[in-house]
Amino acid sequence: MNLSSTKLLYSLLLLFCFSCKPTKVPVATTGDDNQIEVVFLQMNDVYEIAPLEGGRVGGMARVAAIKKQLLQRNPNTYAVMAGDFLNPSVIGNMTYEGSRIRGRQMVEVMNAAGVDLVTFGNHEFDIKEEELLNRLQESTFQWVSSNVSHKTGTSTQPFTSGAQAKPVPKTMVLEARDEDGTQIKIGVLGLTIPSNKVKFAEYTDFKTEATQAYQSLQSQADFVVAITHLDIEDDIEVSKQNQGIRLLMGGHEHTNSYDTVGTAIVAKADANAKSVYVHTLKYNKTSRQLSIQSTLQSVDQTITPEPVTEGVVSKWTGIADQSFKELGFDPHEAIFVTTEPLEGRESHMRYEPTNLGKLIAKAISAAAPQSEVAMLNSGSVRVDDQLSGTITQYDILRTLPFAGRILEADMKGTLLEKVLTIGMKNVGIGGYLQTDKAEFEATQGKWYIDGKLLNPNKTYRVALSDYLLTGLESNLEFLKAGNPDILHIYEPDASNKSDMRNDIRMAVVAYMRSLRK
Ligand SMILES: [Zn+2]
Repeated sequence: MNLSSTKLLYSLLLLFCFSCKPTKVPVATTGDDNQIEVVFLQMNDVYEIAPLEGGRVGGMARVAAIKKQLLQRNPNTYAVMAGDFLNPSVIGNMTYEGSRIRGRQMVEVMNAAGVDLVTFGNHEFDIKEEELLNRLQESTFQWVSSNVSHKTGTSTQPFTSGAQAKPVPKTMVLEARDEDGTQIKIGVLGLTIPSNKVKFAEYTDFKTEATQAYQSLQSQADFVVAITHLDIEDDIEVSKQNQGIRLLMGGHEHTNSYDTVGTAIVAKADANAKSVYVHTLKYNKTSRQLSIQSTLQSVDQTITPEPVTEGVVSKWTGIADQSFKELGFDPHEAIFVTTEPLEGRESHMRYEPTNLGKLIAKAISAAAPQSEVAMLNSGSVRVDDQLSGTITQYDILRTLPFAGRILEADMKGTLLEKVLTIGMKNVGIGGYLQTDKAEFEATQGKWYIDGKLLNPNKTYRVALSDYLLTGLESNLEFLKAGNPDILHIYEPDASNKSDMRNDIRMAVVAYMRSLRK
């Protein structure tokens, strides 16, 4: 067969094929359009696995439902937790299977909820080294930290996480790919406030680390985002210095905020997953343009909880409820409805008298009706949150996780004055005192007890949390039995269940119930 006949045969074959088969019009394939959309679901400062305010807000199973829904719409969805989730919590202080729970409940819930990425918050270092190492090992989500590492003896190395004990990286690169084949790389760095200094953690300067991490990611990724747990001023500072970090998903303040800094965004959601941020990032590979659209979404009763996560949450709340019942509490009972938020954030409790501090001090007074003045160390309040709306017994349990009794002491006016003055100067620490019936008149520099000038020669009956009488509180080491200016200590009647001094939490519950009437 010569060339021309081959051609002819070919043409005939083609003709035959076209005539006998249904005509197939070639469809223009979409192909890679060089545009891609990724979604970050951001939460921060979550201590509670179950909803709060009588079930109205928050709840990790609801967050899981949001993640699932976002993931169905876009497989390139990442759930981020920007620090503070292992502590404090009332469940965390309980014992289960022979050891303190200490955030194990939260890791299990976060694993189920499909959290992808986290960084350390200051509260992650409240728990013991061994406890933190266990939580890291149990987590199936990815940790990233540019400025915190593990100190053992004289050496420092990254913390490790997951069953395989993989080193927690300083930076990481996420690879996203959409249906039409557009692929991008997203650089991620993590920064933590160095406020909670512990022996087993080393903090390097977060500003220097941010710049270094950003510079190393710049060459590897299409754009860079950060997960941070810093004071907002520092987030803004980091953002100003590294304008290429386009989105800083932050935490620590507990109230939502959204700041635009040049071309970057600094976002924080509300604590305890009362809200989450949903950031939609659209990237054009050709123009290298990134647009970010953020929505603050309320986590409330309109969201049906995701059942698997809900199951894990129920397991842990069941364990906790059982322990509370054994102690005589009904965690679900609504005891009060507050019209204004009760301020329990450490950034307030340890710096100024707050309405929550006052309320607890008044509850101490009510439990010890013969007392003339009442006080508590603000460090006994660990909720680090505002209590809003319906207050349940559980809210009181999480507010005062250390429990303890109320004691009364007959003390000389000179000692009372000294205690109150030091308590007022203990700014920023747990030894800052919240009081009832004690007022400091700043212009005179004098204390008033129940409206009367404090008399140094008088003996006062003072009601206080038992911890304050141990001598363990900062700068109040002299405040303990044996101090010659303490003339008598009154203990609660352990056999009398109606003696509210036996448990400060019972005293607060009873007092709040009485306010309702
Ligand atoms: Zn924090």
